Amino acid sequence: MNASVLVINCGSSSVKYALIEADPKAPRLDGIAERLGSAEAQLKGNDSAGERFIKSLPGADHAEAISAILDSLEGRRPSAVGHRIVHGGEHFTEAALIDEHVIAAIETTAALAPLHNPANLVGVAATQKVFPSLPQVAVFDTAFHQTLPPRAYRYALPETLYHDHGIRRYGFHGTSHAFVSQRAGELSDRGTGGWLTAHLGNGCSTSAVWQNQSLDTSMGLTPLEGLVMGTRSGDVDPGLHAHLHRQLGWSLDEIDQVLNKQSGLLGLSGLTNDMREIEAAAEKGHTGASLALEVFGYRIAKSLAALSCALPRLDGVVFTGGIGENSPLIRRHVIGLLPHFGFSLDDAANEVTIRGKEGRLDNAAPNGPQVWVIPTDEEGRIAMETRHCLEACA
Ligand code: AMP
Repeated sequence: MNASVLVINCGSSSVKYALIEADPKAPRLDGIAERLGSAEAQLKGNDSAGERFIKSLPGADHAEAISAILDSLEGRRPSAVGHRIVHGGEHFTEAALIDEHVIAAIETTAALAPLHNPANLVGVAATQKVFPSLPQVAVFDTAFHQTLPPRAYRYALPETLYHDHGIRRYGFHGTSHAFVSQRAGELSDRGTGGWLTAHLGNGCSTSAVWQNQSLDTSMGLTPLEGLVMGTRSGDVDPGLHAHLHRQLGWSLDEIDQVLNKQSGLLGLSGLTNDMREIEAAAEKGHTGASLALEVFGYRIAKSLAALSCALPRLDGVVFTGGIGENSPLIRRHVIGLLPHFGFSLDDAANEVTIRGKEGRLDNAAPNGPQVWVIPTDEEGRIAMETRHCLEACA
């Protein structure tokens, strides 16, 4: 199917978009409408010549932002819309054509993603208002991880919490892990074997993928579990909540806020959640920034080592996301902690590989696991899944 797909990723006060043609070489039009509902609302984007533009949209809501996005598409018209939906619960193992049943199912999972799913549905409603006759497809962050076996997705909790309340590990960043593991299989002589993928951006997660199926992943019921992230703590002792409540009198909302917004690289460094600034500060001898780098890298290596248990064979690791694609320092740190797996980094290749370039970074030992950097393309993957869904429904 040659559909030109408008990919929409809607937050509570923002709409990210990308218009993606079936031909991967065709230029993309993309951008973000942000601060919606306020006097400062604006649309920022790239035109087909790659020039940036900014348009003020004072007081605009989501539907008005989507109309403005439509006006910015230089006369190009999508033939379908693909929505990024954060949580599909156990309802969705793949992308779904949006109808009232799909909307009702997304609403029922809103309890699991109270910040994201309702905002995603606002985007669906606003897009339907602007494009009433276009097919709309929901692509879920969780769907790729629905192949996890029970040993990976069940918490050791009373089983009624799973059966009656859906308390289990779901995993996120599914479109990214799916994209880079599939691409590793295409680029590598190992094919679609056993890949560990590390999506390291503001949010961070790892995944173990065997023959294009996710077998385990570091995020859980929510995107807070697992690795150290920009402002999220990742794993902590589950007893921490009770301790903070009893000893400091913190409410659940305060604890939630601290673990999600004030922890991670920001909390450890006492400085910033931005890896570029952390690296620069550590270079100048800032002890908090150096500690943040140590903990960040160690926790990634530990997670990759743990997830390797899910794979029948380990063919390699793939780094992606803003940090994974751009930080030779973090890649060197992580691989340096895993020599017993046979990983060996080609330092020169590691140093030169920058954003937008995919490449192999290991010393090409015939039997050792490989190291790849592959830029993620979540929007491209959402567009592809949207096309496949429409073909399957035709
Ligand atoms: P993302 O959420 O994928 O856009 O990734 C954002 C993270 O990538 C931030 O922590 C950035 O500091 C980090 N990042 C971007 N470029 C670089 C770079 N050249 N070196 C280190 N980190 C980078």
